Amino acid sequence: MCRNLTPSTAYLDHISNQVASDIAAVPSIPTHADDYSDQERLWSIVAQQAEDVHDELVDLSLDLHAHPEVAFEEHRSAAEIAKLLERHDFGVQRGIGGVETALYTEAMSENFDPEQHPTIAVLSEYDALPGIGHACGHNVIAACGIGGFLAAAVALEESGLPGRVAFIGTPAEEGHSGKEYLIRAGVFDSVDAAIMIHPFSYDIGSHVWVGRRNLSVTFHGVSAHASSEPFMGRNALDAATLAYQGLGLLRQQMPHSDRLHAIISEGGERASIIPDTATMSIYVRSLHTDTMLDLSQRVDDIIDGAALMAGVKVTKNWDVHPATLPVRNNETLVRRWQRTQARRGRTPLPSGVIPDTLAASTDFGNVSQVVPGMHPMVKIAPVGVALHTPGMEQAAASEAAATAILDSSIGLGQVAIDALAEPELLEEARQEFKARGAVVRSADLFGE
Ligand SMILES: [Zn+2]
Ligand SMILES: [Zn+2]
Repeated sequence: MCRNLTPSTAYLDHISNQVASDIAAVPSIPTHADDYSDQERLWSIVAQQAEDVHDELVDLSLDLHAHPEVAFEEHRSAAEIAKLLERHDFGVQRGIGGVETALYTEAMSENFDPEQHPTIAVLSEYDALPGIGHACGHNVIAACGIGGFLAAAVALEESGLPGRVAFIGTPAEEGHSGKEYLIRAGVFDSVDAAIMIHPFSYDIGSHVWVGRRNLSVTFHGVSAHASSEPFMGRNALDAATLAYQGLGLLRQQMPHSDRLHAIISEGGERASIIPDTATMSIYVRSLHTDTMLDLSQRVDDIIDGAALMAGVKVTKNWDVHPATLPVRNNETLVRRWQRTQARRGRTPLPSGVIPDTLAASTDFGNVSQVVPGMHPMVKIAPVGVALHTPGMEQAAASEAAATAILDSSIGLGQVAIDALAEPELLEEARQEFKARGAVVRSADLFGE
């Protein structure tokens, strides 16, 4: 029998149609605000500097794209980024926070006092995916972060404003939580706001990113000859299949914003031997930190119950890589981002237009839970091209990506400079951050 394996696109089509009609109803974003018109001069300095370095940034982006490196192995990429920053006279620290491929540099006003003056951090990722290269477009993120930093640094110098702009190169996002290591090492302790962009198939101000925990499970049973002495065995694979079924049944009772993924990664060697070992790898995702905890507890119970039923022992290792937290987009900063992009002819969508169904996870979530942060999405690909696909890999080296690098460098630079120039903007961002839960640390929630 030959069956058609292509999944129907009916549901995706419904989403696309809904999004298209919602986008048509999004009001246009004002490009000027009377009360801030005195910042036009600084915005022009930012834009000019971004234009000046644009060719260099596109070259870097294409170079990283042609030499993809996976999490924690971004040695060449980090070296190329450092070289570019050094060409612009910034001393670069390599291997910060105990992460070898992390980078740091900064620009600050004369008489900068960290106790009194703000620090805005611009973040760059640069890791690729195994097998499909830069299919998440982190080469574009790298270029935009550098551009935003360089542009803000020049405007800071020319403005005489008190403050600091930091550039943080944050490796190992894919499948890991590189930023969480930097948080634990104190890299964000003196940061007042953290900003970055991510490429996508839409321009979005606030996109939903769910938190993610990982769980490794090993069931320990007793092996026995499956034919002659099965009664002397305790079947670890039985426990794994019971757990797999239990997780499957739980799904009906989960809120739609929760996700549960599980595989049985090891389940015996030979059918004639009752397996004494079975292993599972499980991901738990949820939209809020408290619902992440709730779901984790249900998963724990299912695993323990499965072990009990099969009469085996179990070891559970939560968060072998640190958990990622849901992104808390700071809307005060996002509104500024939207204005910068409107001036570039883009309309970053407000939250709610792109449905939560399309949510994934990012370790920027952890950053956004310790300082006010924004993580807008920038269109580099046609609608329908998803992250982590060959189509997105191509888009990450496209003309559209080059345009996005300019627009985003300007946007990041202008948001950074606004945050330094307007104490009331940063204060509003802080108040919003406080009202929406203040500091939440992954290590406190889930243990180190
Ligand atoms: Zn990704
Ligand atoms: Zn990504």
